[in-house]
Formats: sequence, structure tokens, C-alpha cells
Amino acid sequence: MVDSKKPRISRILSEYDLDNITIATVCSHSSLQIFNGAKREGFKTLGICVGKVKRFYEAFPLGKPDKFFIVNSYDEILDRTDELIGENTIIIPHGSFVEYLGAENFLKLGLPTFGNREVLLWESDRKKEREWLEGAGLEMPREIKNPLEINKPVIVKYYGAKGGKGFFIAKNYEEFKKKIDKSRSYTIQEFVIGTRYYLHYFYSPIVEEGYKLDIGGSLQFLSVDRRDETNIDEAHRLGSISELEEVGIPPTFVVTGNIPIVLRESLLPKVFEMGEAVVKKSFELFDGIIGPFCLETVVTDELTFKVFEISARIVAGTNPYISGSPYADLIEPQLSTGRRIAREIKIAKEKGLLEKILS
Ligand code: AMP
Repeated sequence: MVDSKKPRISRILSEYDLDNITIATVCSHSSLQIFNGAKREGFKTLGICVGKVKRFYEAFPLGKPDKFFIVNSYDEILDRTDELIGENTIIIPHGSFVEYLGAENFLKLGLPTFGNREVLLWESDRKKEREWLEGAGLEMPREIKNPLEINKPVIVKYYGAKGGKGFFIAKNYEEFKKKIDKSRSYTIQEFVIGTRYYLHYFYSPIVEEGYKLDIGGSLQFLSVDRRDETNIDEAHRLGSISELEEVGIPPTFVVTGNIPIVLRESLLPKVFEMGEAVVKKSFELFDGIIGPFCLETVVTDELTFKVFEISARIVAGTNPYISGSPYADLIEPQLSTGRRIAREIKIAKEKGLLEKILS
């Protein structure tokens, strides 16, 4: 856990009415699932909105929070933590929450937050991320240090860019030279050809049943998705990517939705091996990842998983599974990742171990 914050979080928790916990998150990303899961576990729920309440929640009563908390800007959340403390709030982070609030603000937010916030420092820095994942024995796409050595398709990622429009593909050095903006820092990665699978795990340090880890706790594999990314995923409808580029339409990777997937069963041992290794390594490096995480992979025709990224919190790819998944159904029917998070908080509360899963 983030040491500098721990005493503060412990102090806040010691004043909480633990029979009246409110689960809160920003109204975006996977909030419907998080609120639905929290309600099913008997928690009160609170949705943080900027500007005004998003009307679409009216359409989904089982995903609508009990209460809305309106702020004028995300920064305002930091100034109004006392009000949220008054509601015994536990924050559930998701990708948009961290992005909108900003990493620095997220790290200093004075509210008990599910998971270990320190993981952000390892996940958002591409070098540290590689140290973690390769250190865990996972295969990542090869990095090409010298652009002159590009002799196969590569994906060039500008620093700070998260998918979307901050990437481009090049098939050789000439193409790279034509497209690169040298004023920005970037990394060059082999473009892995295969099928993209985004694997959703949950690590609990406090539950000792099921797939137990020798460092303690247990690992669950809850679901898999594939992201639908525009315009690359349907570019073929108008011809090849090269043809489109010739008429000034570069490929982009903007996520617009998620598609449910099941894996061939023989891949499951590797899935667990990778998840376990990532958790173990995280405890060696920084006191550990807790709760949901996602390995973003491409599976090649040699059935090798190449992991190009880790997301260390609930991902929107779990949204197809609000009422369970082919894997979660084999653990407990109707178990979404959002519900699993709420369940973890409930178990920790009952065992007096909340500090172990919050930071
Ligand atoms: P990221 O922002 O790293 O999640 O990447 C955005 C998207 O780019 C991914 O969802 C993939 O579709 C694609 N991508 C990223 N890295 C690679 C890679 N090394 N090989 C093939 N596709 C990739």
C-alpha cells in the first residue's frame, strides 16, 4: 500500500460506521456494473457526476446509484472529501475515474480507495510496466530500439497516449520516417498478429479458497473480452489499411465497445500461470496488486500469449458480464467483477481486514 497515505486512510476508516458503508465511483466507464454489484451485496451507492446527473441512469434502475454527488470539476472532489467521509465512502477506481481526476490527484485523494493505488506508478510508466511483466516471465511484444531495424510491421506508441489516436503502424523504416513526429517521445513495438484477448482477473489477499497462491490469497479468472476499436476493426470494409492510408485515413484504435469471448479450454493453464506470476511479482516490486486487473494480450498462431499491457483495476471489458460470465458462472452464478469487488469489501469488513484491501 502507499505508505504515506496508510495512516491517513486508517484514521479515516477508524471513524467510519462500517455498517453503513457507501460504495462510490465516477458515473462513467463501468459504473452501472459497480453500482449494480454493490447494491446486490447490500451496500449504499453514490455516483459522482460532473455538472449534472446523467439522465440515462433513469433507464437502468438496477444500475442507478442511490444518490448523486454533483461537482463542477473533478478537482472539486478533492476539496469535498469531508462530505464523502461523512457518508462512510469507499471509492472504486476505474479507468475513466483515474484519467479524469488525473494520476497525481488520484494518488493523493484522501478517501479509502479499493485496491493498492501504488500500482498506478508501475502501470503508467511503460518501462516499469515492462520490468514488472517481463520480470514475471510474461512474453511481451519485442521492442525495437533502432528504427532502421524495422523489417516487420510495428506499432509506434507515443508516450502518454493511451490507444486511441496516439499510435501508428509502420511496415518498414521509410514508412516510419514519413509518419514519426520526432518532437514526441515514443516506443516502437512489434505489431503482433493474432487474436486479441483481454483477460479479466481478480486477486484477493484475504480469501483462501479456490485457486490459492503460495504467497497467500487466491486468484479468480472472471471473464474475457475483445475490444471493438474504430476505425481499425472495420477498416477492411473499404479495402486494406494501406489503401485507406493512401487516401488520408490512418488507422485508429479508439475503443467503442466490448465483445464477449470464451477461450479454447487448453489455454486456461497458461492464463492462470500468467495471472499468478503477475500477482507474485507485484508483491516483490511494490506491495502488490489487489482486486481486479486485466492482461491485454494477443494470442499468436503458435498459441503464445503476448502481453502488451496491464490495467490494474476494473476494465470496461467486464461490462458484458453484469449477470455473470461462462467462467464466473462456474464460481458463483450472477457474479460480475463489480459484484466481486463489493463482495471483497464485505468479506474484509467481516474479518476486520479492510485495511488490507484499501489504500
Ligand atoms: P493500448 O493503448 O496499449 O491498450 O493499445 C491500444 C490498442 O492497440 C490495443 O487494444 C490493440 O488493438 C493495439 N495494440 C497495442 N499494442 C499492440 C501490439 N504490440 N501488437 C498489435 N496490436 C497492438
